[in-house]
Amino acid sequence: MQKQLQLLRDLQELDTEKKAVENEQQTGLNEQMALKAELDRLQGMVDSLAGEISILGGEKAELVNIMALEQENVERSESRLPQIKTQKEYVAVLKEVDTANKLAKESQSSIDAKNEILESLVADKAEKDDELAASTEQADARCAEIDASLVAVNKKLAEMDRQRGVFLEELPKSLRKRYELLMARRAGVAVVEARGGACLGCHMHLPPQMFNSLFIINEVQSCPHCNRLLFVTAPD
Ligand SMILES: [Zn+2]
Repeated sequence: MQKQLQLLRDLQELDTEKKAVENEQQTGLNEQMALKAELDRLQGMVDSLAGEISILGGEKAELVNIMALEQENVERSESRLPQIKTQKEYVAVLKEVDTANKLAKESQSSIDAKNEILESLVADKAEKDDELAASTEQADARCAEIDASLVAVNKKLAEMDRQRGVFLEELPKSLRKRYELLMARRAGVAVVEARGGACLGCHMHLPPQMFNSLFIINEVQSCPHCNRLLFVTAPD
């Protein structure tokens, strides 16, 4: 029985340590995920700026075409002026020239406005490109570090699982079940010390007779309040 209790204590110690190592593993994985999410966020901003630049570039190209057409119209109308015979026709052509000039000018000022926005978008994108490149470099280096530590962590966990299997194998099936059930129901603490007449798992007082019996009875006993398996180290 003392051997069983010792096994249970060893198992509890191992499982507590294992939980800490698993937390370490999760912390590493979480950090990697956070780094990746940040890179995705930056990439999303770069992509969105590239999209805006592309749309604006298309709109600008359209305006450039319109302006070229209006300039052609101006030239064509102007070239007709020398052949004009009547005053009425002359006025009409001049009006055409005037309208085409006005449209060309409007296109030019729209192009100027687009250029201004484009310039600021391109500058924004260049800044975000740099930020993304720097963050990618940092994240890659950090992820490689985490990967290296995770290799060690995983190795440690595998060794713990192996050792755990050995402990479990040596326990009677019923005790093993009680242990596993308590681990699940009592937040990973199934085996606790009883000291000063109390269970250190739930801090409730144990019946004095029962507490005293822990020092003499060769049987694994449960706390009547929290059901955890109890051990004692030295008489008070
Ligand atoms: Zn208890």
